[in-house]
Order: sequence, then structure tokens, then C-alpha cells
Amino acid sequence: MSHRFPVFYRTSVRGTRQLVVGGFAFNCRSYCLNSVKKAWKCSSFSDCKAKVHTVYDEIVLIHNKHHHPKENDSKILWLYITRSQRGGQILHIGGHRYYGRHREDAAKKRWLCAHVYSEAKCQAGVITFNDEVLTTFREHNH
Ligand SMILES: [Zn+2]
Ligand SMILES: [Zn+2]
Repeated sequence: MSHRFPVFYRTSVRGTRQLVVGGFAFNCRSYCLNSVKKAWKCSSFSDCKAKVHTVYDEIVLIHNKHHHPKENDSKILWLYITRSQRGGQILHIGGHRYYGRHREDAAKKRWLCAHVYSEAKCQAGVITFNDEVLTTFREHNH
């Protein structure tokens, strides 16, 4: 399924998993945390009617109309891909940059934090599938 908006998962400051669709974050409803099919509701306002349903992390239903503004850009982790001067792909998520470790035509891509070459030697990374974040691994150390 393709989406008009960047769609990915992130970990909230409270440690819970959130689904982010087009600049809005959703929390999983507690009754379906452990089920394959999940219902997500807008994390911003309790009376917001926006919702998403996923099955195996794939979106099957989406009502992404909110009566309130998006979170500001520093809180919401936008994802986009640019090219480096050498022609390689660079993934940007929430102020972090990642270099690709994959064939560009692969659907599943592995990225490492750009700081892997700096003094920090950061080992944090991301795995994307069809340019959506599947999972992140290791924490940033900078
Ligand atoms: Zn909302
Ligand atoms: Zn890093």
C-alpha cells in the first residue's frame, strides 16, 4: 500500500511505540497492544476523531483529518531522502542523517548514522522498507 504521507514508527518520550502519519502521531489503543490488528488514535487530543488501523504494521484504514495543527517539526520526526554530492542516498529523520548500506533498488534498506565517521563513531541505524521505517537499532551517542 502506498501513502501520500511519510509513514513510520517511532518511540515516544514515554517509551511507547507511536505511528506517525503525515506529521501526526498516533498511540495504539491499549486493548490491542499485543494483537496483530491494531487501532491507533491521535496522540494530540483525546477528542480528535482521526484514527488508523493496521494489520501486521500495514495500514488498512486511515482517517487522517484533525481539527488541530500538526506537532511542530522538531517534535515530529519527518523522513526524507536526499543525495550526497557523491551521489549516495542520505536518509533524514528528525534531525539525524543516515548513509545507505544497501543496493539502491532494494526495497529493504539499511542505514547507518552519518556520525559513524565522526569522533562519536555512532552505531545507530535504521532499516527501511519501501522508504518507511521498519525498525531502528542502537541509540545515538551524540
Ligand atoms: Zn488529531
Ligand atoms: Zn547517531
